[in-house]
Amino acid sequence: MRSKIVAGNWKMNQTFQNADELLYQIGEGMEKDFPQDVELVICPPFVYLELATDFAQEIEFKIGAQNVSQYDGGAYTGEISAEMLSSMDLDYCIVGHSERRKYFGESAEVLTQKVNQLLEYGVQPIFCVGEQLEDREAGKHFEIIKSQLQEALFGLSQSEFANIVLAYEPVWAIGTGKTASPEQAQEIHAFIRSLVAAKYGEDQAQETSILYGGSCNAKNAKELFAQTDVDGGLIGGAALKADDFISIAKSF
Ligand code: PEP
Repeated sequence: MRSKIVAGNWKMNQTFQNADELLYQIGEGMEKDFPQDVELVICPPFVYLELATDFAQEIEFKIGAQNVSQYDGGAYTGEISAEMLSSMDLDYCIVGHSERRKYFGESAEVLTQKVNQLLEYGVQPIFCVGEQLEDREAGKHFEIIKSQLQEALFGLSQSEFANIVLAYEPVWAIGTGKTASPEQAQEIHAFIRSLVAAKYGEDQAQETSILYGGSCNAKNAKELFAQTDVDGGLIGGAALKADDFISIAKSF
């Protein structure tokens, strides 16, 4: 059975004090009727990872990083390696987010290197794919998603791919308040699963969690998560409010 996952991407937000408060509030929210079968993942900025791991001693959430270096280690000023993340017992790391692709020019080649680094050190990539608005309007969204998967991920062996979590994040829905409709999300999620099945077999496809991301919030999560191939969410803005984040996680 594939996992149901709700992951919060804090992006470049929060002071140390606010991060501490938010983690505390999330912990409190998890004390009341939190579903046992939902994995809650928090992806704070690097500088708050240790704070989050301290909280995770008491509270049952998992922790992810938002980025990792494509290099193994050494003279790369300002970078954080997969080995470092692994040494902090992190579970996940986001790779291929559209903001990294757009603002930091991350190519498919770099993304593959990052995925390989993470897999080598036992950290699970949450790999994001998604089309721009003009791609969708031109009817190219299937083609774009397919090539993003093929170029960066489908060189992995089956045992490597078994550690990947996928996230469909239409770029036009990220931080815009425009959510994909449940039908649009289901259509692409089913398409992604069919591509995984064609490459790695039906069993692997059924085991792969595919999250939806893009203006998912406490109001629309239920309908999105009710779709057969939507296994949870990658949440940006709404992950910065404990009540909203917890209520999204309770939306299955
Ligand atoms: C994201 O950045 O991964 C995201 C889904 O953001 P938001 O929920 O704010 O659209």
